[in-house]
Amino acid sequence: MPNRVCLVHYHEIGLKGKNRSTFENQLVTNLHRALRPFDLGEIKRVSGHILVTAASGRVSEEMAGAISQVPGVARVSLAYLCGLDVQEYSAAAVKALSEFGEFSSFKVHARRSATAYELHTLEINQLVGEVLCAAFPDKKVEMHNPDATVYVLVVQGSVYVYAASQVGVGGLPVGTAGKVVTLLSSGFDSPVATWMVGRRGATCVPVHFSGRPMTSDMSEWLCRDICDALAPSGTIGRLYVVPFGERQREISLAVPQSLRIITYRRVMLAVSERIARIEGAKALVTGESLGQVASQTLDNIAAVNEMVSMPVLRPLIGSDKQEIMRRAEQIGTYDLSSQAVEDCCTLFMPRRPETHARLEAVHAAWDSFDHDAMIDDLVEHVEYLDFDQCPSYRAPKRWRRHHRELGPAVVPAETENGTE
Ligand code: ATP
Ligand code: MG
Repeated sequence: MPNRVCLVHYHEIGLKGKNRSTFENQLVTNLHRALRPFDLGEIKRVSGHILVTAASGRVSEEMAGAISQVPGVARVSLAYLCGLDVQEYSAAAVKALSEFGEFSSFKVHARRSATAYELHTLEINQLVGEVLCAAFPDKKVEMHNPDATVYVLVVQGSVYVYAASQVGVGGLPVGTAGKVVTLLSSGFDSPVATWMVGRRGATCVPVHFSGRPMTSDMSEWLCRDICDALAPSGTIGRLYVVPFGERQREISLAVPQSLRIITYRRVMLAVSERIARIEGAKALVTGESLGQVASQTLDNIAAVNEMVSMPVLRPLIGSDKQEIMRRAEQIGTYDLSSQAVEDCCTLFMPRRPETHARLEAVHAAWDSFDHDAMIDDLVEHVEYLDFDQCPSYRAPKRWRRHHRELGPAVVPAETENGTE
């Protein structure tokens, strides 16, 4: 029985010219991390693919499934690893085709790479084709648009044979696009927005504003679970939690009711930008989608956006809720986001939030409390939790301590010196 290995295909990386090896190396690093829970053998580059083997010699379906979820992976094929003997790899071709599922036509596609093997691709196609025709007498050979293609890849002393492939998430390896801070609530949208920028290669650092101590810490637990669900893709570096309840109460006492939400959002964006600068992140990300709720009108987006000078990416701005929900199901955050919990946004909700904020009114509200002191204080009191599945994440110098549990970023000096 030949060994089973995974051949990982990536297409976008191929387009990146001289950056190609950086991208491939990052993908190999990310796959190593994603496959830690499995019985991994080795991961190496083989002729335009990445080869993943298992220590036991047989890669499992689960392992192939985990690989398919890593950004940068276009397709994964569970291949048979054979020697150069025609009989051996033809027999593997029969097995590979019988595992393909429903088909009525097929062809063989052989490829050779850096090999002095005596058979050429046309000969391989013919020899393997004959064996397959004998094994599947009721199927026909079709050169153009066959239902199934049996690939036979000859690389140095080995032959890889596969027919079925699993579609991967695509995108680019995390760590090739820089770092972003994403504003994460436990709703449907922001986890999807986070996943989307992660899939484009960004290392994600979510920030969640909770209503603590005025609400329970339920929304924080949900955000942790959401990060846990996203973590196997390697996109999540660290989750920051900002207890915001007290400050929201102050805001609710100072500003007109209709402008509360916009004012909370301005503070949230300003604090997130400060965290982003400490983290060395180059953009902020939100889950906003145009017109979805009252706060997401163009006027309100403008009134909040003026707080920051960093780009704010809104990957869902043109998406419908149905599309977002479908994606949430695929990435495993749907059930978590379905749980209605109090977070900072449900605290001190006005009865009639402003939908088309006038900037003069927003500025007057903003100047009615000491916003700079509030922002400083919130940054000073952030808490965080590290995730270990993101190899490209580097903690900032200021908050370099690794937290396995959610804990304050700034540890009192006495504790730090061990003289508590
Ligand atoms: P979501 O489904 O992501 O909660 P939403 O449709 O509920 O979004 P809003 O509540 O208006 O919309 O939030 C808009 C965006 O603001 C969110 O997508 C998220 O990026 C950010 N945001 C909202 N609440 C919080 C929070 N408590 N902590 C961090 N970011 C938040
Ligand atoms: Mg929300």
